[in-house]
Amino acid sequence: MTAIPNIISAQKAFFKTGKTIAISERLKYLKALKNEITTHEQAIYDALQKDFKKSEFETFISEFGLVISELNLAIKNLKKWSRPKRVTASILTFPSSDYIFYNPYGTILIIAPWNYPFLLAMEPLIMAIAAGNTVVLKPSELTKNTSQLLTDIIENVFPKDHAIAVQGGVETATTLLSQKWDYIFFTGSVPVGKIVAQAAAKHLTPVTLELGGKSPCIVDASIDLKLVAKRLVWGKFLNGGQTCIAPDYVIIKAEIKQNFIEILKAEITKVYGENPKTSADFPRIINTKNTKRLAEMLKNVSIIFGGNVDENENYVSPTLIDEPSLESAVMCEEIFGPILPILTYETETDIENIIWHFEKPLALYVFSKEKIFVEKLLNKFSFGGGVVNDTLIHFGNHRLPFGGVGHSGMGAYHGKWGFDTFSHKKPIVKRGTWFDPTLRYAPYKGKLKLMKKLFKIFT
Ligand code: NAD
Repeated sequence: MTAIPNIISAQKAFFKTGKTIAISERLKYLKALKNEITTHEQAIYDALQKDFKKSEFETFISEFGLVISELNLAIKNLKKWSRPKRVTASILTFPSSDYIFYNPYGTILIIAPWNYPFLLAMEPLIMAIAAGNTVVLKPSELTKNTSQLLTDIIENVFPKDHAIAVQGGVETATTLLSQKWDYIFFTGSVPVGKIVAQAAAKHLTPVTLELGGKSPCIVDASIDLKLVAKRLVWGKFLNGGQTCIAPDYVIIKAEIKQNFIEILKAEITKVYGENPKTSADFPRIINTKNTKRLAEMLKNVSIIFGGNVDENENYVSPTLIDEPSLESAVMCEEIFGPILPILTYETETDIENIIWHFEKPLALYVFSKEKIFVEKLLNKFSFGGGVVNDTLIHFGNHRLPFGGVGHSGMGAYHGKWGFDTFSHKKPIVKRGTWFDPTLRYAPYKGKLKLMKKLFKIFT
């Protein structure tokens, strides 16, 4: 493997040749990437199965399918997206034609997590390439099979000075972060996000941070609890609960809690069977360290369903916890596993007290038919994005910007939002030369009154 500083200087030199700029070149590579990924469809399913027993169905809906959709979208729209956009000129710059140019930043570092190892590496890479940049991708060291496959796919499509995957763990990431980049796109945990932000600040490098947090799910008494259970169990236990926007905990109206718990238990059993360990659809925890971390969360709390852990197989069963204190381990950090604490509320102040106890979450879900109640929650709290009467699905609409706020991250992507993220929006004014009033030029004497009048009329 070439030394990291050499990879970057080669990419910077390549960028300066202008070869990444031509739209025809960008399209050529996006099409080649789509072809390569499509050819490897089965290999992608196999890699995810080996890494943490993720089923083919879940890999299709949450990784492969979304990556192909993003590629199709970029291929279809690239010409339109990258064209300079004309905006209405200001009378103060008259005569002029004013534009926004979409310029690539240059050489981009993408650091990806393990939990959706194919999607969260490929999706930013696609839009960074579409926007005309070069890319160094560091996939997660925890999903060896998927990361190797990603590396091979990228190597088969791109020259190294255009895009490359560099595998490795913390040491490699640290070396990468010590270099000077034109943009850094990081997906991962809050503590590492802070390290990335510090490294970026050293060189004033713009950065997107896609982080995590404790995403609440509020349920009131106005809604069909069977439907809530179906949608909540799907969103919570998909990927073994290892989803950045998974509902972290439930806050339910106290009077319906007991009934809801019974419905939830029945739904989990219906979906994963009496013994979820034998279900082909229930993934494993990524490694022993995380399995132990989750096992610790199950100590000194009231487990009302599940709670089975097998550290040898990195298995934690779908688990429900009854009213843990906000100081208990399970409520002190993002759970990131198949454990669902159930808290209750009597008044809206109870909901506020719980949500404001934590940093701004990446997502918020509310199940309710009470429009006023829903609107209040959506407007009162600051969170990355949300869904009313379902979970997770806002991730699937490329027209919506996806990202966090505060501790759950900064910046956003998906679809055109991703193209925008990797493009510098450069304002350009093309000034006419046929008319040049003397008003703005010195000497200013006697001109201020007219200038004030013009500002009043035209601004
Ligand atoms: P992580 O922060 O441990 O690792 C992410 C990446 O950072 C990996 O490539 C890893 O090698 C690298 N890394 C680890 N330690 C580092 C260090 N000290 N310096 C530099 N780089 C380092 O996160 P993870 O465990 O892979 O993923 C889980 C976390 O990611 C959760 O918090 C989850 O909420 C979050 N996440 C967020 C999103 C999102 O879109 N907002 C998506 C997926 C996951």
